[in-house]
Amino acid sequence: MTLEILNNRKVEIKNLVLLTLRNYGNPFVPVEIGNIIRKMNNIKLITYSSQMKKYHISYEKMILSAETKDSYAVWDRKQRYCIYYNDMDSNIIQSHRVRWNLAHELGHIVLQHHQYCNSDRLFRNSLDDNTYYYLEKEADYFAQLILVPHVVLSEFKISSIDQLKTLCKISRNAAKYRFQDYQKWKSSHINIQDEYDQQLFQYYYNFLFKRHCQTCGATLIQRYGDYCQICGKKTLQWGNGNMFYPQLKTYTSGKLIVCPNCGNQETNILGEYCQICGCHLVNRCNDLNCQCNYPLLTNARYCPICGGSTSFYNQYFLKDWYDDPDSMDVNDVSFYIPLYSR
Ligand SMILES: [Zn+2]
Ligand SMILES: [Zn+2]
Ligand SMILES: [Zn+2]
Ligand SMILES: [Zn+2]
Repeated sequence: MTLEILNNRKVEIKNLVLLTLRNYGNPFVPVEIGNIIRKMNNIKLITYSSQMKKYHISYEKMILSAETKDSYAVWDRKQRYCIYYNDMDSNIIQSHRVRWNLAHELGHIVLQHHQYCNSDRLFRNSLDDNTYYYLEKEADYFAQLILVPHVVLSEFKISSIDQLKTLCKISRNAAKYRFQDYQKWKSSHINIQDEYDQQLFQYYYNFLFKRHCQTCGATLIQRYGDYCQICGKKTLQWGNGNMFYPQLKTYTSGKLIVCPNCGNQETNILGEYCQICGCHLVNRCNDLNCQCNYPLLTNARYCPICGGSTSFYNQYFLKDWYDDPDSMDVNDVSFYIPLYSR
């Protein structure tokens, strides 16, 4: 019999996953689990191969003394930990099982299992079976949460084991179980606003919705609409672009701080129009029947939803994208030199 993880314990583990990601992660999938651990000052990553060299032992001896082909974590009974992991077995490396092993050991550490057992290592034979398997379950739960973020799978419309395996960079065997889990999650989360999922969604927001336009090269964070806000073409793809089109300064309402037409700076008043010259100081789609009823980015010439022109473009606040003298190719170094010497 192995104990199940109780629901309130699951919430605790989820919060620790969020904390770990926010403090040490980078919103990107596949999750850079090695980098996360390297950023934690109290954990040292040590390979089996370096241990073999250090102690002049064979691979077989190494496995024998490690008591595992995968990985283990050691606590110094104060603040510090070492994670030892197998970097020699080509199956473990090529199948990306090593990533799971690292996430699993990180789980033991973050969930303070060593303290709980008052033991510097979580040996199978030094713990009773129930405790051992329960702690294993918790560490695996931590690993699956951190390596397989369901909100990201759902936004990328993952629909097979192979897609999940590629996106999350985990072994095929792990992907099989995680896919079942993901499908269960999908069917039960249709209308549920889960706190953890929402927070994770916010964490990955810029990663999920970064797009670049193949026509004008713009990088945009755009969740809705298929049209490029800079050039109006339907040529958006997921990922980073190389062109930067500057924004104008606004209040949080989206209203410009300075009117580009008359230079009026007293714009922090009610309403969207300039009280001096009558210009529209909030960038909106010109089609009143369009579904977009929110202010658009200040560099948007076109509406992302309908592809029609915007108020800023029509009032000549914005030049055509190919004429914008302030746009920058971020890969072109010559653009940076005049900026630095200004
Ligand atoms: Zn373990
Ligand atoms: Zn474009
Ligand atoms: Zn004005
Ligand atoms: Zn529109």
